[in-house]
Amino acid sequence: MTDNITGKTVIITGASSGIGEATARLLAAKGANVVLGARRADKLQQIADAIESAGGNAAWQELDVTDPARNDAMVTLAKDTYGGVDAIFLNAGLMPSSPVSALKTNEWNRMVDVNIKGVLNGVAAVMPTFTAQKSGHILAVSSVAGLKNYPGAAVYGGTKWFVRNFMEVLRMESATEGTNIRTATLYPAAINTELLGTITDQQTAEGMKGLYDTFGISPDRIADVVAFALNLPADTTVNEFTVGPANQP
Ligand code: NDP
Repeated sequence: MTDNITGKTVIITGASSGIGEATARLLAAKGANVVLGARRADKLQQIADAIESAGGNAAWQELDVTDPARNDAMVTLAKDTYGGVDAIFLNAGLMPSSPVSALKTNEWNRMVDVNIKGVLNGVAAVMPTFTAQKSGHILAVSSVAGLKNYPGAAVYGGTKWFVRNFMEVLRMESATEGTNIRTATLYPAAINTELLGTITDQQTAEGMKGLYDTFGISPDRIADVVAFALNLPADTTVNEFTVGPANQP
């Protein structure tokens, strides 16, 4: 397949662990300039150093996706360091699942802020550039919880259904407006990352741990899918990827 990744500049949110880190390492190994954002500066520094030591290109900056100005600053960093931005991988998220009756309202609000508003802030940051240059690729992580309903995922799943709806409407509008902005939405199942650490409801945490211990696969598999999507020629898009363990029902 033709190489459409080398030289592309890709912003990755939530790049300090899990899917974001794996994607950063893979895309950099394939020749992309990666621009990493998350709150843990020490982790970003380590990952960027490892990428650069291996001959790749990585810039990083602290990012809280709930802050629009910090999202804008990621675009500025990409332009200042690599001369532009070609794609953004909207990956930052958290999953403090719990039954509604537990009334973990702070966690509900946090999920809305990070999983929904964080995605909106990232899109708002890149849209002026992508619209002006009439090209750009916006990739976002939803979840299988954005396709199916699960007890414990009333709010988490709701945030991921939002991502699905938003991305599909963005795709349709971009096509009709002729901006050449492509979209790809990923729906991962059980992927072994730090995500379960965000669950504070003990019963939910135990149930999820059992599921992930049985089925979970490496975040490298999601990175492969992101690389596939980014490598597609400019006239082609695969809009949705449901991806997870082959043996997870
Ligand atoms: P991790 O917990 O390993 O990664 C989450 C990332 O999000 C971290 O880099 C974290 O960095 C970042 N993050 C969290 N809050 C913020 C914030 N406010 N601002 C910026 N970055 C933030 O889990 P995953 O890799 O699994 O999660 C990545 C995405 O994949 C999430 O959107 C998740 O919902 C989704 N997903 C994961 C599945 C799985 O099974 N693992 C399945 C389906 C979807 P830091 O703490 O340094 O800010």
